Amino acid sequence: MLRSLFLLRELQSNLKLKRDELERIQLGKLKALLRHAYENVRYYRGLLDSAGIKPDDVQTLSDLRLIPVTEKAALRKLDLQEKTAGNIDVKACVKVFTSGSTGMPTHIYFTRYDHLMIDMVYLRSFLVNGLRFRDKRAFILDPHSFETKKCWYHRLGLAAYENISCFTDAGEQLERLRRIQPDFIHGYPSSLALIARLMLEKGTKDVRPRLVSTSAELLHQKQRETINAAFGISLYDRYAARECGNIAWECDRHDGYHINIDTSVVEIIRDDKPAGYGEPGDVIVTNLHSYAMPFIRYKIGDIGALSDRTCPCGVETPLMRTVEGRDEDFIILKDGRLISPMMVTGTLDYVPGIRQFRVVQESMDVVTALLAKGDGFAPETVDKAKESLREIFGSGIEIRCSAVEELPGENNGKVRAVLSKVRETN
Ligand SMILES: [Zn+2]
Repeated sequence: MLRSLFLLRELQSNLKLKRDELERIQLGKLKALLRHAYENVRYYRGLLDSAGIKPDDVQTLSDLRLIPVTEKAALRKLDLQEKTAGNIDVKACVKVFTSGSTGMPTHIYFTRYDHLMIDMVYLRSFLVNGLRFRDKRAFILDPHSFETKKCWYHRLGLAAYENISCFTDAGEQLERLRRIQPDFIHGYPSSLALIARLMLEKGTKDVRPRLVSTSAELLHQKQRETINAAFGISLYDRYAARECGNIAWECDRHDGYHINIDTSVVEIIRDDKPAGYGEPGDVIVTNLHSYAMPFIRYKIGDIGALSDRTCPCGVETPLMRTVEGRDEDFIILKDGRLISPMMVTGTLDYVPGIRQFRVVQESMDVVTALLAKGDGFAPETVDKAKESLREIFGSGIEIRCSAVEELPGENNGKVRAVLSKVRETN
């Protein structure tokens, strides 16, 4: 408790620093992480050795480019012992699942301190956006990522929160919101947009949070407009990933995302060179608080652009924007419900024995799921996958699951984990 307050205070005071002071903190943390990774993580020692560099060769931020970029797929293929730090007990770490748009489930490990850091960096941005300790909060998320801890201040009615599963029907989620009457709602753009659309259709005006926040998926302009109109607010989006937590966030100017440069390094790379300001390129992230399983120059699979503007809000961290994100699609059910790709990936991630998957809606009546066999695959894996998909799709659609050794076209560039042929022809 004290540790989190102390950490939060430190993070909050960072936002008052000048840009050069922030960059000094960033560089200090970067050097420490590189030394740690080189000394304790076999993969990074090999990577630096093969590039002919030592951690001490990185003396400035631009020296970071001496280190080769690591792709998601390359990291996924490694044994746990190769990509985690030998001096950290992984069993004592916080384990997180992720697959996102690639449909390649993998585990990520954070030390308890680094995981707390992720929480506090989120909280910092919520507080800047106007969150108060007395606010009633509603989190509409994948139930696997629910926070269930209750602290002493919850018993005093402070920071009270309710979790709502985004896997349930949008109408049900809206009912919960009406009952809770939250001051603050946080969720995925796709889920909140579905609830918002329903509210607009029904003319619902009795859910009036003061703050709405989104993250984890690319927020489309249309979704932003729908959510703003339904809740009567101006939502705050953040750019986040499981591997790196909250990378960048919007302030009340809503004109670009402030990069948390005291906890991460964001580079935008185009044709192997840093992209110019405003020029789109691959987002490469270094999570400065990833000591158990370091993410150093990690290609996250999104396209973004850096801005050279300084935000008039007074926070001097640099600004960025995302251009296009995880290339996914919605599944459309006969009753009109839309199932977000995140629900599908979030569900299959938790079925053991699957190395990669692709879910395709062939028609209004049929969804197929190809499952590439992974460690721990068993004949019942296919049934388990089918059952878990049934939970989110319901019984109105046929689900065909089959196991394969390799997904077709797996190595041809971009992989989409979820796509709908119904949508494409509409
Ligand atoms: Zn700002």
